Amino acid sequence: MLGIVVTPGSPGRERLTKLEESECSDDQLLVRTLALGVCGTDREIVEGRYGWAPPGRDWLVLGHESVGRVTAAPSGGGFAAGDLVVGVVRRPDPEPCVCCAEGEFDMCRNGGFRERGIKELDGFGAELVAIEPEFAVKLDPALGLLGVLTEPTSVIAKAWEQIDRIRYRACRPLATALITGAGPIGLLAAVLGVQRGLDVHLLDLSREGAKPELALLLGASYHTGTVADVCRRAEPDVVLECTGAPELVVEAVQSTVPAAVVCLLGISSRRRTLDIDVGALNNKLVLENEVVLGSVNANRRHFAAAAKALAAADPECLQRTITRRVPLAEWRLALERRDTDIKTVIEFADDAHEAPSREA
Ligand code: BGC
Repeated sequence: MLGIVVTPGSPGRERLTKLEESECSDDQLLVRTLALGVCGTDREIVEGRYGWAPPGRDWLVLGHESVGRVTAAPSGGGFAAGDLVVGVVRRPDPEPCVCCAEGEFDMCRNGGFRERGIKELDGFGAELVAIEPEFAVKLDPALGLLGVLTEPTSVIAKAWEQIDRIRYRACRPLATALITGAGPIGLLAAVLGVQRGLDVHLLDLSREGAKPELALLLGASYHTGTVADVCRRAEPDVVLECTGAPELVVEAVQSTVPAAVVCLLGISSRRRTLDIDVGALNNKLVLENEVVLGSVNANRRHFAAAAKALAAADPECLQRTITRRVPLAEWRLALERRDTDIKTVIEFADDAHEAPSREA
């Protein structure tokens, strides 16, 4: 079978290569990959700036945003051949920290977690993959290839859960959310925000094209000005910062209304320095009872919430979020960044083109 392989730390050695069929034990699901989503983390790994190979070798199968179809499943485990599934990315630390021991491995406290396609465990970028049933989530068959959006949505489902836990301190329910960056994470954050009945505002640089059109379609307001402008006009109770752009991070913290929550979800490039008055920023946070939190990854509960949210979302919005589909043979093209890209997906199997159906 074919798989996309990288050598972490060594850029330029990424390749599509023949792999031995996955070792699949009797208690695992054997899953035929239908599609793989590509994100900034994958690009960082390919460029040699992130990622760890499994112990004892220097190569790693890439891919953590997946959707696949079960070809074989242990009996009585809740899965059957034909099920559409997604694999959970993170595995708890083998010597579990307090969070990993409770299944809250997305909150791992000692950094000993492993992640498929990222850290010490092969990813889902192979034609056949083995997945432990407890780390697989069944999707609505109607989603078909759109199920590839489950992993990024799980990151958002976790963020909203974290925000929910915090917001109860501020005497009124959340009403308005600002999301910075209308990339896949920002748009999926908007989908879930609208599903929660919030007045959602999306801010991005693109003045035209798919992003403003998608915002309209999903019922969010779209802006191209500054964070400060939108905060002045819309007074968001929560900001989900999805770009990692240092200027936006600082502006979000500086511009929010009292008692607001700023949730940081983007990864920044390093060594970017800004001249800011930290004392003034501190005083604003303290004197206005504000919260800034970071959120990463997702556990099984968040994958399940993501699967539910995607099943309830407008399929047209989800379709239009996937702006480029690349066949496996041309997988390298998926790593390029093009101006019109939102989410790029590598298609694996022929039935990725099958019309979505409600039957397994
Ligand atoms: C993934 C997360 C992962 C993080 C850091 C992100 O791209 O979505 O699941 O925890 O990278 O490895």
